[in-house]
Amino acid sequence: MKNALLYEGKAKQIYSTNNPDEVIIYYKDDATAGNGAKKAQFEDKGRLNSEISRMIFAQLMKDGIKTHLIKAVNEREQLCHKVDIILLEAIVRNIAAGSLVKRIGLTEGETLNPPILEFCYKNDAFNDPLINDDHAIALGLATQEELNHMRSEMLKINEFLKALWLEVGIDLVDFKIEFGRMKDGTIVLADEISPDTCRLWDSKTHEKLDKDRFRQDMGGVIEAYQEIHRRLEERSE
Ligand code: UDP
Repeated sequence: MKNALLYEGKAKQIYSTNNPDEVIIYYKDDATAGNGAKKAQFEDKGRLNSEISRMIFAQLMKDGIKTHLIKAVNEREQLCHKVDIILLEAIVRNIAAGSLVKRIGLTEGETLNPPILEFCYKNDAFNDPLINDDHAIALGLATQEELNHMRSEMLKINEFLKALWLEVGIDLVDFKIEFGRMKDGTIVLADEISPDTCRLWDSKTHEKLDKDRFRQDMGGVIEAYQEIHRRLEERSE
């Protein structure tokens, strides 16, 4: 069923299948930060992220969000609709952290109400720069209508995710999602939602349970991902 390797990214591999409209996504154990400047491997990270992302996508689909996910093939691989990824990182922020703190001087932990939405241009050569709608349109990445649609999906997804994480004792600080175009042009949520792509803080202790543990050399990276996985599994039981 899994055929040729079509693409290899920092954390995932994409394989063709016998159906030209479907791909298999394999989650690797590799972790990178700072645009690939820092690299490591964490045994079992791929399996944990695949399972975490699949559980979250399944919940979002129940809530009516369209995604690329078809089904899990096994704990590390997912069968997905083949999409053309839109070269934008769609970021939603509920609490100030990361680049926002460095760039405009907000204090880490400050609540952002309403949430801040950002688009970054997915381009490693330029370090994924923050851009506005006019830039996205000039670069031919998306139309104004598509940008508006993505923004409204980002807000909906944020509301669903905030509630989901809160149920398992986690504050959703911020997250990055990616969208893809299906063959008929429909825009769907693609890529992954995991501790690699979200900032997740324990609601009570404010302990960081996400990739910042790797970025900031805090240790306990895989233990944090295991904890997130455990809480989501308990919720779905
Ligand atoms: N993020 C991501 N991939 C990236 C950049 C950011 O998944 O290439 C996520 C990151 O984990 C965080 C959110 O997007 O949850 C906002 O990240 P930020 O802009 O603060 O950048 P960072 O501090 O990670 O460089």
